Amino acid sequence: MITNLDEIAAYAALHETENQSFQLFLKTQNAERTDEFVKVLNERISPQIDCTQCGNCCKTLMINVNEEEANALAGYLHLQRSDFDERFIEKGMHGMMLINQIPCHFLKEKKCSVYDYRFAGCREFPGLHLPHFTQRLFTVFMHYNRCPIIFNVIEELKYSMEFKK
Ligand code: SF4
Ligand code: SF4
Repeated sequence: MITNLDEIAAYAALHETENQSFQLFLKTQNAERTDEFVKVLNERISPQIDCTQCGNCCKTLMINVNEEEANALAGYLHLQRSDFDERFIEKGMHGMMLINQIPCHFLKEKKCSVYDYRFAGCREFPGLHLPHFTQRLFTVFMHYNRCPIIFNVIEELKYSMEFKK
């Protein structure tokens, strides 16, 4: 298993063509069977990777925020909600709220400084426990070169599904 971020990025750069072929291959496979492989690999690999020693997703993710999350975090930070919004929130279409900075304001060194109040998008990422993996290939492979969990699950998936022998 590779967890070094530089090694992952270098490996990814050398395997772009292979990964494009693998995505095409996955689209020909039974989606439920693929979900099952991903689930098993994710359950084995995720616990072996310490996100607090990485934090790489917090440098690149665009984070959605809902009202409840914004209120809770503003309270934790002892800020009026209007001040919280002014400092940290960008409003999109239909009142959608996003954290207004990438990397995220709350990333300190490699750790989330508001961990108990982090947003649903942060908690869910990288989302390999979710069904319909095959429908999310674009997003998954977007993060392949920077998330050690995704990287290692994909690399093992190539062998599990006999794309590579
Ligand atoms: S809130 Fe925390 S977990 Fe979420 S992106 Fe920011 S630093 Fe990362
Ligand atoms: S989810 Fe991936 S990119 Fe984010 S901290 Fe964990 S291993 Fe790193």
